[in-house]
Amino acid sequence: MNTPDIITIDGPAGAGKSTLGALLAHRLGYLYFDTGIMYRALTFAVLDRKLEPQDSTAITELARTLDICIRPSASPDERHPTVLIAGRDITHDLRRLRIERNVSHVACHQPVRAIMRSRQREIGLRGKIVMVGRDIGNVVMPDAPLKIYLETSLEERARRRTDELRADGRAIQIGDVASDVERRDSLDRHVTIPAPDALIINNDDLSPEEEVEVILAHVAQNQWRPSVVSGRL
Ligand code: C5P
Repeated sequence: MNTPDIITIDGPAGAGKSTLGALLAHRLGYLYFDTGIMYRALTFAVLDRKLEPQDSTAITELARTLDICIRPSASPDERHPTVLIAGRDITHDLRRLRIERNVSHVACHQPVRAIMRSRQREIGLRGKIVMVGRDIGNVVMPDAPLKIYLETSLEERARRRTDELRADGRAIQIGDVASDVERRDSLDRHVTIPAPDALIINNDDLSPEEEVEVILAHVAQNQWRPSVVSGRL
């Protein structure tokens, strides 16, 4: 089957983008790249250096110079690659609550986004890649031949996230998780926009494996747009 060289997957927090992205990439033998990790790694560095998440100038400078290295996962869970900043392994810090609470504030500065987007595009242009995020199909790779946007109800996203956190050993109530997801929704709304030509999948009642089948059926019907992807952001 002829497959699109670049596939983007966007959607709100907890929509299952990383599970689907890793699974699809595995199926196609593509690289899986989660752009949220870059914003999380930057947020780790911001907090580590005791910068204010509102300090656009300092964070922009940090984003410009920070060495973020993302390597394919060392564990069987391909959703969570190994992440180093300036040689320090921060993989296990990126899912912590203090990162989750600050990341949207760090990610909202436009000059910071411009730096991140340009790095993301450079990676995307290498091809054979599934890129996951919020604004990938719409802004970072608008010329990608296949763009997916995931929609999931708030209840379902909170339920999935609660299961994930509990599996990690955290004692957490679904109501608190739902409030957190809602708060992140409102902070990220300005960037979480489906591309006009995205395939929108509501996955409330679909397993990740079923979503992959939906996407592969769509690809097999040639309902994607082979395109020449080039240039810079
Ligand atoms: O996807 P994930 O929840 O790991 O993303 C963490 C945060 O990074 C998001 O809440 C959002 O603020 C930011 N983000 C973004 N643009 C992306 C990916 C993530 O602004 N492409």
